[in-house]
Amino acid sequence: MILVTGGAGYIGSHANKELNLAGYETVVLDNMSYGHEDFLKWGVFEEVDLGDLESIRNVFRKYEIEAVMHFAAFTYVGESVEDPQKYYLNNLRNTLNLLQVMNEFKVKKLVFSSTCATYGNPQKIPLTEDHPQDPINPYGQGKLMVEKVLKDYSSAYGLRYVSLRYFNAAGADPECEVGERHDPETHLIPLILDAAMGKREDIKIFGTDYPTPDGTCIRDYIHVTDLADAHIKALKYLESGGSSEVFNLGNGNGFSVREVIEEARKVTGKEIKSTETDRRPGDPPVLVGSSQKARNILKWQPQCDDLTKIISTAWEWHKKDN
Ligand code: UDP
Repeated sequence: MILVTGGAGYIGSHANKELNLAGYETVVLDNMSYGHEDFLKWGVFEEVDLGDLESIRNVFRKYEIEAVMHFAAFTYVGESVEDPQKYYLNNLRNTLNLLQVMNEFKVKKLVFSSTCATYGNPQKIPLTEDHPQDPINPYGQGKLMVEKVLKDYSSAYGLRYVSLRYFNAAGADPECEVGERHDPETHLIPLILDAAMGKREDIKIFGTDYPTPDGTCIRDYIHVTDLADAHIKALKYLESGGSSEVFNLGNGNGFSVREVIEEARKVTGKEIKSTETDRRPGDPPVLVGSSQKARNILKWQPQCDDLTKIISTAWEWHKKDN
């Protein structure tokens, strides 16, 4: 069985679905702090907090775990600056707990959710995996620390892992069985869609004086089902004996905040009022990744790779979920 930590969350639930569609049996582990009960549609569920070593051990005793996909983490960058301990305990210490139990039970394959936030401010675009890593917030620091731990554990204990550095996960399962739901919501696309639904008055554009063609930040939006598919490919890579590796997961295309809003207007047919405001602290002007390595080695090919498809699936889910 495959253990999916954080499988009741946004990306974890999409990966859990794809794993089951691909014929894997899964155990979802989640402490339900941010998870959603109605996302638990596939596999068996264990409500466990990764802070509790003995409970993790019980899961490994109960099921024959062959590999782990580790999604469970807090993901609010701003909050990580205000309360770094919350992030280091959950994202770093609890990952150490999981790795300790994996080691005890001789489970040697791991797919880890990392992030482009481990790079910090880009020196060169598109970002490749060998770009220096110098995170600018505790969220990115914690993820980078885990990457370093994985490297050491891989050399010392024979763990084989794939770290996947996500760019901006977006969109929803095209069948609308799961989707993006955060509380609080801070991400651009769901907030735009809230404005389209009349649930908020407008969408704020955070900064219009960036050194980009239209002055707003550019991001690499990657569809969540494509991310999920990359996890299956990473797992198969490890199953076929692949050695520990790190891959970026993005589309290699960047879209500005204004472009995303404009596309959402087309997709939804709604006016969507936007208001220009100050920059949000800590936002690099451009984050676009090269995923050439994942395409070459994992044979990963994003299917939902244009903004229209990404926003359309998000919109279908958003309407259903509200
Ligand atoms: N953004 C914005 N208004 C919002 C939320 C986000 O202008 O209400 C911008 C944000 O500054 C960034 C981009 O949209 O440039 C994507 O932000 P998001 O929080 O979705 O993802 P991040 O890039 O921070 O991971």
